[in-house]
Amino acid sequence: METLHPWHLDFSKPPEPALELRSAPVVSLVLPCFNEQEVLPETTRRLVVLLDRLKAEGRAAPGSAIYYVDDGSSDCTWRLIGEYAAAFPTVCGIKLSRNRGHQNALLCGLLTAPGEVLVSLDADLQDDLDAIPRMLDDYRAGSEIVYAVRRCRAVDSFFKRCSAEGYYRLLALLGVQVQFNHADFRLMSRRAVETLRDYEETHLFLRGLVPQLGYRTSVVEFDRASRFAGESKYPLRKMLALAWEGVTSFTASPLRLITGAGVLVSLGSLLLTAWALGIRLFTHEAVPGWASGVIPMYLLGGVQLLSLGIIGEYLAKVYESTKKRPRFHVEVVCGNSFRKDTP
Ligand code: UDP
Ligand code: MG
Repeated sequence: METLHPWHLDFSKPPEPALELRSAPVVSLVLPCFNEQEVLPETTRRLVVLLDRLKAEGRAAPGSAIYYVDDGSSDCTWRLIGEYAAAFPTVCGIKLSRNRGHQNALLCGLLTAPGEVLVSLDADLQDDLDAIPRMLDDYRAGSEIVYAVRRCRAVDSFFKRCSAEGYYRLLALLGVQVQFNHADFRLMSRRAVETLRDYEETHLFLRGLVPQLGYRTSVVEFDRASRFAGESKYPLRKMLALAWEGVTSFTASPLRLITGAGVLVSLGSLLLTAWALGIRLFTHEAVPGWASGVIPMYLLGGVQLLSLGIIGEYLAKVYESTKKRPRFHVEVVCGNSFRKDTP
């Protein structure tokens, strides 16, 4: 019989992944909610049906549940969560002591909810629930992180579409590793979530942090719907703050750009000086103009202030991080999973 030597192996092809299916996991669906009383009844109805379906299809194990994280809502969100937790054994709630922002609420949910697999999604039903079975299939085939990625941005306003796509391109240009058109609709294995604990970032930008974890990842595409009811809880101010976080938490490129601009401006001014001197020494004319003196002065003043602002922002981040303040406090929890007597 012919012996197979190592040089018979074809290294041009990547090795085939071992396709041993994992067994159906206990799934936790994690949904941060901030003043979501209008959507919660429908969200709960659809999620309870989905969990039943996943269990019937053998995709999710018993013990799978929904975890709402109330991010300091001022409407009836927490009361509704309490009612649903009493009515459905698969609904649980975690209430934060005050509004800490979507990213912190999401992290709290991920770190508090049990389960072998955690799927994070928004409470407003924009994320397509039909993508979840496909994400679970990817997990069972070996992925530790599954990104749900929007197929298109048809439901977004023109402004949101342009700004979002421009932003993802800017991040890529600055060298920040993010999954294009992916927000926070993703599946993570327990192992991946546990590694998140090692990142003690004061300002969170999970869609930038998760790609840093490594592990085997995959992508599932979905069509994002419009918000089912209620208003967006991400006004422009919060959106800009999150976008800025995405840049400053993952790259020092803006600081390097300032250095580059400084070098360019200095070189330019040296050339300008040489030109003015040349005219003065070798011709009978003087360099005319007030504008050529005053405009660069204002321009440089502006650039300097902007540069100081950017440096200040990074400094502020260092200052905030040194305080090591907790990112959230859980006030109270409800639901079966948190009862002491449940196994
Ligand atoms: N959210 C939150 N805390 C906040 C703002 C938003 O927990 O301070 C939640 C919100 O309830 C929703 C998700 O984050 O479940 C995404 O918010 P939203 O749908 O309003 O954002 P948009 O889709 O408009 O960008
Ligand atoms: Mg939304």
